[in-house]
Amino acid sequence: MATESISAFEPWLRAGAFALVFLLVAVWEAMAPRRARRFDRRRRWPHNLALFALDVLIVRLVAPGAAVAVAFVAEERGLGLLNAFDVPPLWAAVAGVVALDLAIYGQHVLFHRVPALWRLHRVHHSDPDFDVTTGSRFHPLEIVLSLGIKCAAVLALGAPPVAVLIFEVVLNAAAMFNHANAGVPVPVDRWLRWFVVTPDMHRVHHSTLARETNSNYGFNLPWWDRLFGTYKDQPAGGHRRMRIGVEGFDSPGEIGLGSLLTQPLRATHTSLDYSRKEHA
Ligand SMILES: [Zn+2]
Ligand SMILES: [Zn+2]
Repeated sequence: MATESISAFEPWLRAGAFALVFLLVAVWEAMAPRRARRFDRRRRWPHNLALFALDVLIVRLVAPGAAVAVAFVAEERGLGLLNAFDVPPLWAAVAGVVALDLAIYGQHVLFHRVPALWRLHRVHHSDPDFDVTTGSRFHPLEIVLSLGIKCAAVLALGAPPVAVLIFEVVLNAAAMFNHANAGVPVPVDRWLRWFVVTPDMHRVHHSTLARETNSNYGFNLPWWDRLFGTYKDQPAGGHRRMRIGVEGFDSPGEIGLGSLLTQPLRATHTSLDYSRKEHA
């Protein structure tokens, strides 16, 4: 696929997929909420969505379509692992998507383990409710750092441009699906979570308990958590009664866009430090 044709429809593909999946998940949540909300949607959504809009704006200004562009450069110059071998295009695309997902898993673990990175990632976790907008609630600095890591991974892998675009669009859609304040029936969930991270699986990751926060890092594929021993089946308190968020950052005063942007500068108020390596 030519560079021009991919870059022409890429913003529309991203925006269209986002709008469609957002709408579907929002309707699903409204029809069958999994948990009672602590705050009305009207309190949180404008701020979570404003943060997301700011993220999109910054990426479009700083480095629009950077990961796909890096993939084109790698392809043209024969850089990266997959370009070093004569891999059929379809297999290269599949391998690219799977390997990028592993890279994002590794990055997510890193953002929990390194205290300074946790302060950025904590903005995602401190949402006192868990719903479709939580999936887009990331600090702009985390977004920019993630983009840098992703570009490095794309270059090292020599991932095909089309694989990078598919990965980014699917990751975005998966993040909205697996943050849904909804759930598929338990027997279906048990089967489905062998193939994709489900809302019940990712909700465990948003628990206030450190041992649950530090589990289920996967965003798309659930295999890495099982493989690396970070998988936790269910929250100890049950999905309806478990506490969600980060203690000390769950007051109404922490919901606003300004507080979200400055939150990384504030220390954890409580004795709980979520970057600790405790896995008890
Ligand atoms: Zn996390
Ligand atoms: Zn999350």
